[in-house]
Amino acid sequence: MASKHGVMMAFWQHLARRSLASAVVVAGAFGALSAQADGNSDGDTLVADLDSEQAPLESQPAASRSAPDIDLKEVAPPPAAAAEPASPDAGAKPLSDSIQPASAVEAPKITASFSLLGSDIRPGISTRLAWSPNIQIAGLSQPTPVLVVNGINPGPTLCLTSAIHGDELNGIEIVRRTLYDLDATKLSGRVVGVPIVNLPGFEQGSRYLPDRRDLNRHFPGSANGSLADRIAHSLFTQVINHCDMLVDIHTGSQKRTNLPQLRADMNNPDVAAFTLGFDRMAVVHSSGSPGMLRTAAVNAGIRAVTLEVGESHRIQEHQIEAGVNSLISLLEKQEMISRMFVWGAPEPVYYDSLWVRVDHGGILFSKVGLGDKVNKGDLMGHVTDPITNAQYPVRATRSGRLIGMAVDQVVMAGFAAYHLGTKPDSPEFHINGELDHADSAGRGESVEAVESGDDLIDNDG
Ligand SMILES: [Zn+2]
Repeated sequence: MASKHGVMMAFWQHLARRSLASAVVVAGAFGALSAQADGNSDGDTLVADLDSEQAPLESQPAASRSAPDIDLKEVAPPPAAAAEPASPDAGAKPLSDSIQPASAVEAPKITASFSLLGSDIRPGISTRLAWSPNIQIAGLSQPTPVLVVNGINPGPTLCLTSAIHGDELNGIEIVRRTLYDLDATKLSGRVVGVPIVNLPGFEQGSRYLPDRRDLNRHFPGSANGSLADRIAHSLFTQVINHCDMLVDIHTGSQKRTNLPQLRADMNNPDVAAFTLGFDRMAVVHSSGSPGMLRTAAVNAGIRAVTLEVGESHRIQEHQIEAGVNSLISLLEKQEMISRMFVWGAPEPVYYDSLWVRVDHGGILFSKVGLGDKVNKGDLMGHVTDPITNAQYPVRATRSGRLIGMAVDQVVMAGFAAYHLGTKPDSPEFHINGELDHADSAGRGESVEAVESGDDLIDNDG
């Protein structure tokens, strides 16, 4: 619980800083927020709707209503407080206010409203919605916030999901910073963010759902299955199916940390092309396991990758910055925003990968750090037996870069301690998706071999 408290403190401190910094910017939007506080806004997009749901939202098109325009930079009331019933549309800025006269000269195509979770979100506004899988006792249902920035100009829909594993916190902050800095009146297309998919897990500081299942092994889910199946199905049908592109954000698990990196099926040409949009990011080829959100999304025709950043239970500023910068580069490459400057080296770097496991139980002490390059045979760390005082060296089994590693800890024999990114045999083939690529031929375990072998070791969701 201490870790959760720490996170919330970090959130509030950060919100306070951000709201101070942007006070001048948000001043103009204060009128709309005041109207909302007065109860004149269309606050009924949130809990009131969820309480009355008897059937999936997609079967109730008539229930759509106009979503309120909300300045996402402003500190928000909690979702429940925004749920007071009120007259529709009063809280939203008229569309005409959002369109600059100059735009008429260029005659931009104005997109149609974007419908999501029973709300119509007009072009040029940002809003907060709520998703609920309806698996709890009526009235105790806890809606999961969904942020939407619907651009004034037409374009693709990018979705960002994080905390599918409730103890993976860096992504929550990456989604917040990315969404809250977008200007709907300048955006082409739209960005949908679900910062905390697994709210029960987040509240417990747990990777898993209340039924101890791993949600990221149950996509696309089913309406009649287990709790995890139903939650997965609800998210997939109500949110994910509306996306053209998806970045699902995770961290390492079980005291392992990851260099910021994408996991992508480079055998899929659409996915391979999608990875080109991420500046400077390490891209690790991984076919993905059945049930992963990115796998299910790719199977549904959505360009999807997993973004791995850092370790669980922590908020890591450098990792978060790298993640946000890479998403901004993606938005620019997809021509959804115009960028003022290019951050860092523009090209992503492609890797195959393998795991180095320890052969003895004991306490692992590393000599190397995340991002280090090692040659085959280099000493990476020791496992020390606390009883016999024996020291067992752990050496690189191949030359490569440390894209993931265990933090110092007690380990048992067979523990996957170092994740080495290695030069792919044929990067062109990966990017063009022309070759049936053998993931780990002749060089040990692939990412998914480790992941599918032990759920707890998995780094990809
Ligand atoms: Zn995860």
